[in-house]
Order: sequence, then C-alpha cells, then structure tokens
Amino acid sequence: MNLQKSAAAFAEAKRFMPGGVNSPVRSYSSVDANPPFIARGKGSHIFDIDGNEYIDFVGSWGPLILGHAHEKVVAALKAAVEHGTSYGAPTELETKLAKLVNKIFPSMQVMRMVNSGTEATMSALRVARGFTRREKIVKFVGCYHGHSDSLLVNAGSGAATFGEPSSPGVTVGTARDTIALPYNDLSAVEKIFGQCGEEIAAVIVEPVAGNMGLVLPKENFLRGLRDVTKRFGALLIFDEVMCGFRVALGGAQEKFNVTPDLTCLGKIIGGGLPCAAYGGREDIMRNVSPDGRIYQAGTLSGNPLAMTAGIETLTILLDGDLTAKISARTSKLVDGLKLAAKSANVAIQTPQAGSMFGIFFSERPVTNFDEAAAANQTQFKKFFASMLERGIYLAPSQFETLFMSAAHTDEDISRTLDAAKLSFEVCK
Ligand SMILES: *Cc1c(COP(=O)(O)O)cnc(C)c1O
Repeated sequence: MNLQKSAAAFAEAKRFMPGGVNSPVRSYSSVDANPPFIARGKGSHIFDIDGNEYIDFVGSWGPLILGHAHEKVVAALKAAVEHGTSYGAPTELETKLAKLVNKIFPSMQVMRMVNSGTEATMSALRVARGFTRREKIVKFVGCYHGHSDSLLVNAGSGAATFGEPSSPGVTVGTARDTIALPYNDLSAVEKIFGQCGEEIAAVIVEPVAGNMGLVLPKENFLRGLRDVTKRFGALLIFDEVMCGFRVALGGAQEKFNVTPDLTCLGKIIGGGLPCAAYGGREDIMRNVSPDGRIYQAGTLSGNPLAMTAGIETLTILLDGDLTAKISARTSKLVDGLKLAAKSANVAIQTPQAGSMFGIFFSERPVTNFDEAAAANQTQFKKFFASMLERGIYLAPSQFETLFMSAAHTDEDISRTLDAAKLSFEVCK
C-alpha cells in the first residue's frame, strides 16, 4: 500500500500541530505508523489522498452511524447552508432536535445543546455540583468523559480517597475533588459512599464503557449505582456520548432499564457535525441559567447546521428497526472474527453491545481498565497493520471501540473477515 502523499502531508502537519493532529489518537503513535490522510468518505468506505480505499470501522469515532455522506443528511445540509451558518439567536431547529432527543431519551426532560462531549460532561458536573451544593464527584478508571480538568484524574495511590491529575496542567486541588474507582466494582463505590457519601455530588459513568476498548457493565452494576446515589442524595450521570443510539436506540438507560438523573449525549446527536447535549430531570435542569443561577453558555451552541444534521440522522434512526439491523450485522462480523481467531489459534475477546464492538488480544474477558491494559499490545499492532494493508480501517489502538454503520454491507463484512483470517495468522 502506497502512503507517500499521506506521509508528506503528515510531515507538513507536524510543523504546525502537536503530533500533526487535532486530537491525539489520530497520530497513530500507539501503532508506530503514519496515518493515512483522508480525502473523502462515502457510505462505509473512506478514501485517502494516495487513492487507497478502506472499509471504515471508525466512523469518525462513532458519530457516523449512517455512514459517510448519507444522501439525506447531505441534502439537508446543502439546503441549510444556503440560509447562513449561524445566528446566535433561537431557531425552531433547536426545539425540533430537542423533541427528537426527548422522544428517544425520555429521561432528558430538559436539555442544553453544546458543541462537544467534553462540554456536555463538564457542564453536567457543574449542574450536579450546583444542584446538590456538594463538591466531590466519582468517576471510573478507564472511562473517558472528555478532557476537562475534573475528569482527567486517575485513582490516587493506596488508601487515598482523592484522585491524582492524569495530565500536567490539571491542578492537584481539582483532582482532589474527583474520586476514581475501578469500573464494575460496586463494593468500592459502596465503601466510598460509606466514607464520604454526603460530600459526593455525582457519580459519572459510561454505562457501556467504550474508551478502554469496549467493556460491558456487569449485571447489577448500573442498578447498584442508581441505588447508592439515590440513598445518599447524589446524582447519577450517564455519559452516553458514545453508547447512546448504539447499544439500543435509547442508549444504555433503555437497554438496562436504569434511569439516570442527567445524561450526556454527543457524537451521533450531531450527525457528523459538532454537537452534544446534556439534560435530565426538569427540577435539576431548571437551575441552569437563565432559569436558574448555574452558568453555562456557548456562541455556536445549537448551531443550525449541526441541528440539521442531527435532526436528519435521528429521524432516519427512528424510522423502522435500523438500530436492530445494524446490531445484527455487528453480531455477524463479531461471530466471524471469533471463528477466524480460533482457527488461527489466537486468543481474543470480542465484546459487543449493539453496533459497538471491540477486539482484545486476551485469554480472559475484560471487565475493567487493569484487565484491558493487560491485553497483548504486540499482537494488536501486527493485526492492525495487516488489516490496514488489506484495506480495513480500524481504530489504531485496542483501547478504542469499533463501530458498525447502516451503510456497511454483507460484502464489506465478508471482505473484512477475509482480511482478518490472514491477519490473525501474522499475529500469532
Ligand atoms: C468521545 C467521548 C467524550 C468526549 O466527546 P468530545 O466530543 O470528543 O469532546 C465524552 N464521553 C464519552 C463517553 C466519549 O466517548
């Protein structure tokens, strides 16, 4: 595979941007390779500037559940752009998208549109703190909620109940208010609440975790979080930025029948444009400015183009049983991957939730960050490189989730499985 033009473009990009990219994982540093530079996408395929074509299982890291350049989304955007790109004033589009979101996520009685998942989680935490008048939050190691200070925190050492900054620039003071616990460990949560439950404003969780590879919640984990937060008057925040519209149309809260106080959405909600939302119980959300005193704002929030792409995408998802169809196609691929790995005698784990799936090179099921981190990196790198060479575009790390779209065909799946058979052979 020729990647000469991409390599030159990467070298030039590196002069002006850290790692040559605007979001770190794109730089391929964890697979010791150069990223293809993308020229365009159509359906389930993307094309790089060297003329290579790939079957895309990244989907812009989740948003593109309908595939690239979906005809209806493109047509709606073309029509919208003719009317201007932003007004900073109310439009009917915002209410239309909010209504759709409320229909799919009934727990989001009142919501705010923002521009990124980072903003959604950061704002939801402020609301939780403002509403409860408490300062501490609980998060789980390996869950990613964007890059705001409070959430870039690791578990502290030993018996410490407060976290440590996971990035330079996050202050020790901020990290002290965040408690980071192992995912799926309900007894650790109970213990912390026993120690300082009256100080905890909220527990924030990816109800299906997709940012340490795909890790599913254990039976009763989410229900347990609901119970303990309720008992102590803390809020439960589901960060469904990734798993919303994917594990079920109505997200993990629908699939597991656990209702959070606040929900964060992103990625799919903007149909490929920058958009996210946070919202939940009306009595909580009415405290947001200007109804209440908790401040949060955004110049481009509710942007008409983002609203248009979101409305179009959600409308298509609501029509028929598309979510189930994409999930079934995902199962088909996952079953094939399992078989291919088995006949190559390579131990893998292939968790799946709806249209999300993952591959861990691990003998044992992965239920938390430590177990994910123990998966075999060398095997993944070899597998990744071989798949890319064969035109299969996967996330360049096994600590990322892979996504199926409505545009993937049976032929895409059989081509992917053909490539996987050969690629498992090279990573023994
Ligand atoms: C992607 C993601 C975010 C951050 O969203 P951005 O739009 O990248 O800021 C937050 N939470 C989860 C679960 C995510 O997957």
